[in-house]
Amino acid sequence: MELLSLHFGQAGAGPKATLQAALHADEIPGLLVAHHLRERLAALEAAGRILGEVVLVPVANPVGLAQRVLHSPLGRFELASGENFNRHYADLTETVAASVDGRLGADPAANVEIIRAALREAAAALPARTQVESLRRVLLNLSIDADVVLDLHCDSQAVLHLYTETSAWPQAEPLARLMGAQAVLLAEVSGDNPFDEACSTPWPRLAARFGPATPVPSACVAVTVELRGESDVTHELAARDAQALLDYLCWRGMIAPAPGDAPPVLPPLRAEATPLAGSIPVSAPHGGVVVYLRELGATVTAGERLADLIEPMSGLVTPLLSPVDGVLYVQERRRFVPTGTGVLRVAGREAVRTGKLLSA
Ligand SMILES: [Zn+2]
Repeated sequence: MELLSLHFGQAGAGPKATLQAALHADEIPGLLVAHHLRERLAALEAAGRILGEVVLVPVANPVGLAQRVLHSPLGRFELASGENFNRHYADLTETVAASVDGRLGADPAANVEIIRAALREAAAALPARTQVESLRRVLLNLSIDADVVLDLHCDSQAVLHLYTETSAWPQAEPLARLMGAQAVLLAEVSGDNPFDEACSTPWPRLAARFGPATPVPSACVAVTVELRGESDVTHELAARDAQALLDYLCWRGMIAPAPGDAPPVLPPLRAEATPLAGSIPVSAPHGGVVVYLRELGATVTAGERLADLIEPMSGLVTPLLSPVDGVLYVQERRRFVPTGTGVLRVAGREAVRTGKLLSA
């Protein structure tokens, strides 16, 4: 099995960004966005406009992409272990803390360099006893020393939304504006170590551990970008999303504007950031046919009827109500669901959930 990474610009010449597509292998919108990015990045490189390095992983999960069960692709979980491909990334904080202890000083930029070197070393030393461990190690090594990590996913049916670590939000906010995100979910720890958190969370944790005398900035902004739903695969959307991602890198000074052009203008924020702990899933209390009554992206109120669940033998109709005031941002694509299926999710403002905050 091979993993392809395309490297544009020059490593070490400036800031680094890594973008990867479809870590959950059968999330196809990211694959098409990466295809558009590949052409655009090659042109930007030829024009000398990439000021550091941009790494593009056009297929982040060849293991999952090769999995098939009864004619259906199965890219979310590894068949051999049952593990979610976007969980169980190593938290390198402790290893790096031990390595840099006593070596940090008052200069934040120097501290970033010292910590990045330790992160590279720790990521390179991760075990790769199985195929999925090997995949995780390769991917983490491509991103662990990046200033910006953009992990391109999608949901079942959804509006464009983002997940990021709370302390990274000020740096990610322009991305939300440029992409027109209709929900942004923030968490310090969302549970089971997804990829974006493995890249970003060592920084705030090291900052807290070593204190203000040896300042450690949030030097990696890592965002999980949910490119709508599984079937939202069109050239129009992919070209627009690729442009927005490049505009973000341009806004951050990683890509030079075209000669004579001003830097990109930030559009208004479409949705305020809300806690991931306030995003409430609604599950099917019994099996049945799902009929949605509100459109994705709608602002809804607690108690509002968002869908009907119809048990076709008995004729039982169970209304599915909004658990909170918020934005209806995800729906299940299938229209017949077994008991317990997560049917929809509403992003509310109050952090009411605890424990593992991501779906399985
Ligand atoms: Zn995903």
